[in-house]
Amino acid sequence: MERVREMTKMDYDKYIRLLLLNIARYYPKILSIVKFKPNSIEIALTNRCCCKCIMCNYWKLGSNDELTTQEVKDILNQAKELGCKNCTLYGGEPMLRKDIFELVRYANELGYHVGMDSNGYLIDANAAKKLAESGLESIAISIDAVGEIHDELRGLKGCFDNAITAIQELRKNNVTVVVHSLLMSKTLENENILKLIKFMENLGFPVFIQLLTLTPHHLGNKFNSSFSSSSLTFFGTSDISSLSPYSTL
Ligand code: SF4
Repeated sequence: MERVREMTKMDYDKYIRLLLLNIARYYPKILSIVKFKPNSIEIALTNRCCCKCIMCNYWKLGSNDELTTQEVKDILNQAKELGCKNCTLYGGEPMLRKDIFELVRYANELGYHVGMDSNGYLIDANAAKKLAESGLESIAISIDAVGEIHDELRGLKGCFDNAITAIQELRKNNVTVVVHSLLMSKTLENENILKLIKFMENLGFPVFIQLLTLTPHHLGNKFNSSFSSSSLTFFGTSDISSLSPYSTL
């Protein structure tokens, strides 16, 4: 009886493997037959940023190739027609766009659930209220550590205090706020990341820990001289004790 049960499980595993193999083999054909609809769209509004993060080159790229207001609206229209329901606006720092409230409102009026990624530096009480009134539903604010350590990593004095103001003001206006935190050796040392989680817990905000991924999104085509590809060390492949203060897990 035990043997029969074993055989059955083996057969089952075999069929699953075969099924997955065939799905992989015929995936392009399946895609051409089944009409999948996209659910979400993410739009990079700008390369500009008020921060000068050690792990990022976005702020060095300038404002070339920024989409115009009308181009962003056209993209939102087209994505809506394709079936997108969620839209995330990011940058650089999207709050540097003069038309940010107009774009949030436009997306909201098209029926999108509108979200944003921001460093929070430019979101004071007034901006938080205007974002909420424009229809922003959720926002991810980047905070890597408590106080000056965060300012140091982000290359901007006052960044931590402003980000805390931003999350408090946004919450007052019923915008859903989550805190995104990059895991790197600097945030691991002296239990900095744990201190941040504790700090945010006391304020009642969840913290999502992210591993930095090597993408053009952050690194651009030029590497920061103090943060080259060779200094990037990824979680799971590195010896933590050998990391430089800013190498990234
Ligand atoms: S990581 Fe984000 S906040 Fe920092 S410089 Fe790049 S775009 Fe700006």
